[in-house]
Amino acid sequence: MKVGIVGAGMVGSAAGSALALRGGASEVVFVDRNAALAQAQAEDISHAVPFAHPCRLSAGEYDALEGAEVVILAAGVAQKPGESRLSLLSRNADVFASVIGGVRAAAPGAMLLVASNPVDIMTQVALRASGLPPERVIGSGTILDTARFRSLLGAHLGIAPQSVHAYVLGEHGDSEVLAWSSARAGTEPVARFGAQIGAPITEEVRATIDAGVRRAAYRIIEGKGATWYGIGAGLARIVQAIRDDQGAVLSVSVVAPEIEGVPDIALSLPRVVGRKGVSATLMPEMSETETAALRASAEVLKESTQGLW
Ligand code: ADP
Repeated sequence: MKVGIVGAGMVGSAAGSALALRGGASEVVFVDRNAALAQAQAEDISHAVPFAHPCRLSAGEYDALEGAEVVILAAGVAQKPGESRLSLLSRNADVFASVIGGVRAAAPGAMLLVASNPVDIMTQVALRASGLPPERVIGSGTILDTARFRSLLGAHLGIAPQSVHAYVLGEHGDSEVLAWSSARAGTEPVARFGAQIGAPITEEVRATIDAGVRRAAYRIIEGKGATWYGIGAGLARIVQAIRDDQGAVLSVSVVAPEIEGVPDIALSLPRVVGRKGVSATLMPEMSETETAALRASAEVLKESTQGLW
């Protein structure tokens, strides 16, 4: 499958690298307003291909996206240390308006995979600017927060994160909700699993994991300026779910008519992802507190789009 990536910065190039290393695409094309950067990323990643899977990498203008079935939107300006994702909004919304016109003209059949932050709002911006149906405009949302949640729970329980089924819901950002009530290790609720193997999930453990997930981006940004490998791998994972029509259940963001009483909003819930994009949305079992937190997260997002359209 041919995949386009607009924005060949850290996130875009990490996605291209992950696709090449995982065998997630037969062709990857980079487009960036910095043409030399796009070209350099394509060339650099192409040198990893002999050690990985066959994949043609190139760079070009928007017309080079012709025939792409998925286009990853990673153009934008990076989050500054201490800056909230929502404050990135107005800067990135402008970039998107021009990018989406170029993508739609060159690759009208492509599904859009939105990575730029604040990703839930950018998903809404992309939906409106593209005119595509909502199931074909997918934001990476909390795919990475969910990965962090699973990996910290797995480490505490001493099991593989792949055996932990737990999701982060809502905004990819400060108001996100760790869905503890529905978290399972194998088939067991995580608290029962932990109690049985002598690794109880105390209030303290919960608080540590919650902070570990919620503060991860800020910590990494403090240390290296931005985050890219995790999200790059997450984007490649979504592309593979689409390419192979996997019906994978992933926490991604798409625009929904209503969530918890808040209309016309994009946020993350567990969703079935395959060739047609998102084919179903699941509402996990939640406690009253979690439900209220999800509603609050939806309201935060709704409020930040006020005045945008
Ligand atoms: P991130 O860490 O989110 O990847 P970067 O700053 O590393 O952030 O990358 C963002 C990329 O988006 C840069 O390479 C920049 O040149 C690119 N970009 C910004 N605006 C546009 C645009 N209008 N069209 C194409 N690419 C753009």
